[in-house]
Amino acid sequence: MPVAVQNELNVYESAEARFEIAAEKLGLEEGVYNYLKYPDREITVYIPVARDNGRIEIFTGYRVLHSNVRGPGKGGIRFAPDVSLDEVRALAAWMTWKCAVVNIPFGGAKGGVICDPSKMSKTELERLTRRYTAQLSDWFGPERDIPAPDIGTNEQTMAWVMDTYAMHVRQATTAVVTGKPLDLGGSQGRREATGRGVMMCCNSAIAKLKMKRDGCRVVVQGFGNVGSQAALLMHAAGYRIVGVADIHGGLYNEAGFDLPLLYDWVYTQRKPLPEFPAGGEKMSAQEILFQRCDIVVPAATENQITAENADRLDCRILCEGANGPTTSNADAIVERKGIFVVPDILGNAGGVTVSYFEWVQDRQGFFWREQEVNERLQDVMDRSFAEVVRYSETHHVTNRTAAYMVAIDRVARALTLRGFYA
Ligand code: NAD
Repeated sequence: MPVAVQNELNVYESAEARFEIAAEKLGLEEGVYNYLKYPDREITVYIPVARDNGRIEIFTGYRVLHSNVRGPGKGGIRFAPDVSLDEVRALAAWMTWKCAVVNIPFGGAKGGVICDPSKMSKTELERLTRRYTAQLSDWFGPERDIPAPDIGTNEQTMAWVMDTYAMHVRQATTAVVTGKPLDLGGSQGRREATGRGVMMCCNSAIAKLKMKRDGCRVVVQGFGNVGSQAALLMHAAGYRIVGVADIHGGLYNEAGFDLPLLYDWVYTQRKPLPEFPAGGEKMSAQEILFQRCDIVVPAATENQITAENADRLDCRILCEGANGPTTSNADAIVERKGIFVVPDILGNAGGVTVSYFEWVQDRQGFFWREQEVNERLQDVMDRSFAEVVRYSETHHVTNRTAAYMVAIDRVARALTLRGFYA
């Protein structure tokens, strides 16, 4: 029986609790257990940035490498006001398990800077990104640690990371970072990849539960890179998107939204999502998760589904697009309700999978057509989904515990083969 963590909203405690459950069931040898429990390194940098008014402000940034046992560290950079070292630690560990669950040759890492990008100009963000990269340039590298976008960062941020790194090592090194613009060694399909992976998992889940896709009601929380692309692709595939939300609030409409129109409203007309004219009932961004539907896709941020509110979920499938949207204390409640869970380390792994394809293409200097990228992604997602569900059924554990067990077992085996260098 899982032990409730004391501080439910501390994502690192949630991540540890799930690691403990899976490690215990796997019967991990003590040395391996201790090795995998702790990160390889944690770096804090204090980043001086000239604001546009001439003042120098010091920002705090982190980069955590959780593991490079199976390959270089891989993980996004988050720019947000509530970034903390514990959050980055948890996200780095999740990257290790995510890369292992889809079996790509990367370890796990994550970075973050405490800042509010919505209150910074483009030039300030460029200076912040470049200085952060410069301070970490000895640690980054295509064979060391490879960043990518996350909350508050995008293709432009990755282009600045690449250029800054290239200036330091004195050669163009596109493979040092993924999620880059297409004109700079980015991959076809990367922008949509995380949302597409979410859709592929939903397709597999409804097939497993013998549900029909047409008209299947979906709620998506978060309308950024992951949420908007998942909603657009799922709408096009025949799902009915009945709930949407971003930081400004949520909208529910049983009849379903016209996603291309909503996307245009938010991204071309730059209007607030809750003011969408063809909208439905307004509610808070969190309330949207508890509306009646078939599938809930949290694709915003952590700790949205907790022990306090999990009982209110009214869906058959929970497919996690965000990292850590459900606290570990909520897991037992979700399980008791019989909801089919696609855990984050599988549900949102489409992003890092196409990041891996981008890295491969950069290193080969040979680029693939979008169809090829999507077909390869489909193979990886279908295989990984099937492995996790099979493991869960064979070992009588939840999908989440199964995903952790598959992942931890892969990393543990690689570690045992490498041995402990002394
Ligand atoms: P993003 O910055 O592009 O978008 C975040 C979205 O969430 C925005 O629409 C924002 O308004 C909304 N949001 C933020 N706080 C919210 C709140 N409290 N309530 C409701 N909505 C809120 O970020 P993203 O890249 O789409 O990432 C979203 C999640 O997916 C994060 O957990 C991230 O770690 C995870 N993720 C992203 C990728 C990727 O490829 N971008 C890959 C894997 C996982």
